[in-house]
Amino acid sequence: AKKIGVLTSGGDAPGMNAAVRAVCRAALARGMEVVGIKRGYNGLLNGEIIEMNARTVSNIIQRGGTCLYTARCPEFRNKEGVQKGADKCREIGLDGIVVIGGDGSFRGAADLSAMGIPCIGLPGTIDNDISCTEYTIGYDTAMNTAMEMIDKIRDTAQSHDRCSVVEVMGRNAGYIAINVGLAVGAEAVITPEEDYDLDAICAKMQKVMKSGKTHFLIVVAEGVGKTEEITKLIQEKTGVETRATILGHVQRGGSPTVRDRVIATQMGYHAVELLEKGIGNRVVGMRDNKIYDVDIQEALSMTKPFEDELYAILNDTAF
Ligand code: ATP
Repeated sequence: AKKIGVLTSGGDAPGMNAAVRAVCRAALARGMEVVGIKRGYNGLLNGEIIEMNARTVSNIIQRGGTCLYTARCPEFRNKEGVQKGADKCREIGLDGIVVIGGDGSFRGAADLSAMGIPCIGLPGTIDNDISCTEYTIGYDTAMNTAMEMIDKIRDTAQSHDRCSVVEVMGRNAGYIAINVGLAVGAEAVITPEEDYDLDAICAKMQKVMKSGKTHFLIVVAEGVGKTEEITKLIQEKTGVETRATILGHVQRGGSPTVRDRVIATQMGYHAVELLEKGIGNRVVGMRDNKIYDVDIQEALSMTKPFEDELYAILNDTAF
């Protein structure tokens, strides 16, 4: 029987547990053995390996974080580290590994695959910044959390006639920002992908203030890196009391949404199907709303369009 491992690596995301559970239980259903590797590639190198059965993954589908823990592993960036990892896999008798993480983790998975250990990458990050897939595990939960938080901020911004500038996560990408911005009815959304004109935003605010509007919501992606500066400038230019809120890590936690759980489960299942056939060096993703898989090198060289349609709607909306 085949024996496979599963690990989570890089930043955590809600739904990683659902993916671990799916990998474990899909493999068991096929008569495969499963082990959990703790703390990403570190656990492989240090031998932090746990035997897994159906009960090991009990009661985790609804939990945020990752029961396998996650870490970065600098040693895995060089050839000796990967060689050591491949040796460990042979020692344990692993016929493949499912790696849940981001692009960095997929590079490690490609290197390990090249050394004869088939690896399958699953996209796990709240940022949705992985080019080969329309969707990453954790994205929906993070957006819903941000939306709920901003709804609360809106209450108090309204009571005090304030402008709230809210920074959302997304690393270098603005996917969370533009979607959440639209969902909360923000007057402006500032992302790394699109140019922005603060004078135009302030002019728009001043224009609608004449119609009696007294509170405003501006969503800024963390990748812009200028939240405090933008906040100060808006206050200076408009005279509206303006406060910045940085949502931060709250967006990385919490119970995963239906969408995250279902997609994590589908992707985990697909990864096991590939490993059962001895196929490695692939990333599982979503394309045209369907689960598919793609060569890791090809996945890493792809680019992904930004949400131009959503931007167009936002820019074409009166406030
Ligand atoms: P996230 O973007 O959500 O943080 P990530 O997977 O991109 O996830 P990284 O810290 O970039 O996060 O990578 C995680 C781990 O993958 C690294 O600590 C390292 O062990 C491995 N890794 C990263 N880059 C490489 C590489 N070029 N070659 C081999 N392994 C790599």
